[in-house]
Amino acid sequence: MTKAPDTATTPPRKRLFVTLMGVTCLIVVAVIFLAWWIPNRGLANIHPNLPHVVGIIVVALSGAAILGTGLLVLTTALGKDIFLTRFMRLVVIKFLLPVIEFVGRVIGLDKDRIRQSFIAMNNSLVMSQRMRIKPDRILVLLPHCIQLSDCEIKVTGDIHKCVQCGRCSIKGLVDIGRKYAIDISVATGGTLARKVIVEKRPKLVLAVACERDLTSGIKDCYPLPVIGILNERPFGPCFNTVVDVSKIDEALNQVLEQEKPVDAR
Ligand code: SF4
Repeated sequence: MTKAPDTATTPPRKRLFVTLMGVTCLIVVAVIFLAWWIPNRGLANIHPNLPHVVGIIVVALSGAAILGTGLLVLTTALGKDIFLTRFMRLVVIKFLLPVIEFVGRVIGLDKDRIRQSFIAMNNSLVMSQRMRIKPDRILVLLPHCIQLSDCEIKVTGDIHKCVQCGRCSIKGLVDIGRKYAIDISVATGGTLARKVIVEKRPKLVLAVACERDLTSGIKDCYPLPVIGILNERPFGPCFNTVVDVSKIDEALNQVLEQEKPVDAR
């Protein structure tokens, strides 16, 4: 079987998203300034103080854009919930991402690179909230292409049917599920994934998928926090994909509620 180039093995970079955020912030400030400056000459004809009032609003909006960008960069750099992280996630997911995707398209950047960067930024924001969640309120969601295509057992619906032959990543994931007593579901598409989330009502989802599915999943699930882990696609998209199980282990360690030490007395 010929190996297709794998885009997911390169670690996702927050830096690209941060740079694009900076560029977007400058564009927004320039647009705000022009929106004030152009009609400014006519405003004085309505009332002599109007240019000053509108000027103050423009400065406040520009300041909010610059401060917001700075706060986002600082939150992800320090990995701490400094201020309004949940609100910032909303801004990034609902408003910044579409604008950044547009800016990226205009300057000819690869869509998947922007999405990788967005996923890394989203993960940073979720982690910076330093949540500690009980195992039964965490859901690990996998795409069905992670299972070997010629495996005769169907693990969709119940991953524990896997007999752990070790030919695909499902084996390691069953081990992780048992180790942490975590619910792991395999979804055959977005509709089933949404249904599983509605049924299980998790407080956090750890999802494995490609750039496109993770990006849309993170958007659709808001305000539910989602940590995205990219799958590797050595044989091309949606076929015998692989996930680095240690990344899931690492992410779970950061969000799972720590067991209280048993009192020795
Ligand atoms: S580990 Fe083996 S038994 Fe389990 S799903 Fe993969 S191929 Fe099938």
